[in-house]
Amino acid sequence: MKHIEIIVPCYNEEACIRLLYDAVEKVFRENKDYRWSLLYVNDGSRDGTLAELKKLREAEPEHVEFISFARNFGKESAIYAGLENSRGDLVVLMDADLQHPPEMLPEMIKGIEEGFDCCGARRVSRKGEPILRSAFSRMFYGFINRVTDMELVQGGSDYRVMSRQMVNAMLQLSERERFTKGIMSWVGFETKWIPYENVKRAAGKSKWSFFGLVRYAANGFMAFATTPLRAVVWLGILIVAFSLAFAIWTVVDALRHPESIGSGYATIVILISFFSGVIITILGVIGEYMARIYVELKHRPIYIEKLNTIKQEKNEASES
Ligand code: UDP
Ligand code: MG
Repeated sequence: MKHIEIIVPCYNEEACIRLLYDAVEKVFRENKDYRWSLLYVNDGSRDGTLAELKKLREAEPEHVEFISFARNFGKESAIYAGLENSRGDLVVLMDADLQHPPEMLPEMIKGIEEGFDCCGARRVSRKGEPILRSAFSRMFYGFINRVTDMELVQGGSDYRVMSRQMVNAMLQLSERERFTKGIMSWVGFETKWIPYENVKRAAGKSKWSFFGLVRYAANGFMAFATTPLRAVVWLGILIVAFSLAFAIWTVVDALRHPESIGSGYATIVILISFFSGVIITILGVIGEYMARIYVELKHRPIYIEKLNTIKQEKNEASES
């Protein structure tokens, strides 16, 4: 029997631990094709989350495991810890607050059985969310899809069911500043999207402030884009071009009106803008190398293989 393992990052979710367990248990009571377990990751909660987890583990040792952090390291770290410690054939990422409806699981699992490596929930409405937040998030997706080589789907959540090979691929990206949505897109594989309506959190408060989200978005962008570093070169070249144009114009003007040659301010403007442009261009070149160093430092795999390709089938055939 296949094992499906559900990873749940938790930060101050004491009221949700049991609610989530009950909701998931209910789903699998009706679907007995899989062995299931929950892997809670307590991300340094300051409330009774850890006590709740211990209680739940005691009561349901067969279906509950947890990891606990020494302090709050953030959701991205909790997700990584969960993935790294997971052993399931199928791995699910799910929020603790029931905003990722467990009732969707059977349909999502079906997606994997159809041959997809990943099946995600896509929010089609942002009802009940602050307008500013929705607008900002829409802008972020539009922008990031344009300037980076990752493709994020509008409303695509990180509520996912993933195959083992996809999880292993994500773990191969060993960078420290992690942006899971980007990583899931970067590793490739086919994703099936299932639409759902926004749900209010079951209990407790959202951990995100507006500025927290801005920081998250900026982080996500910086993790995948080297565009800002590279754009500097163009700025420098632009300024040099401007100073050259201005120099030509000054010379032409001086030839046409020799009587007006005077203070020499034009020389100063030209010199300053020319050398500023040169300096910025050089900074841009340095930026270009830094961008490369940044990319190399991440030590991402050069490619990710998808199992069950034709080559593999041939190999298996020749083995048997
Ligand atoms: N979370 C976490 N560490 C944090 C912040 C959040 O593990 O530092 C968890 C949180 O417990 C929840 C999930 O991440 O299970 C999503 O958080 P939240 O519901 O606050 O975000 P929102 O749904 O508002 O985007
Ligand atoms: Mg939530």
